[in-house]
Amino acid sequence: MNCSHCNSDNILSDLVVTDNSTGMDYAIYKDRKPDALIFKDRVRYPLKAHLCADCKHVMFFAKDEVYEKEEKNLKD
Ligand SMILES: [Zn+2]
Repeated sequence: MNCSHCNSDNILSDLVVTDNSTGMDYAIYKDRKPDALIFKDRVRYPLKAHLCADCKHVMFFAKDEVYEKEEKNLKD
């Protein structure tokens, strides 16, 4: 992998993106049923970052989808 900004291959990979105040990892979400009142069928995509050690450009990537625990347990 090369930096998309400076093309360096000096990349720190798979860094965890965390909120310092809560300690929670950042993720992006998709509700497959956004109009539902309770069962929104939410999937979560945890964010990882790659940092260019040369120019400090940060590149975000989403990992594989994870179903929200509460809804998954209710479906099982
Ligand atoms: Zn760079």
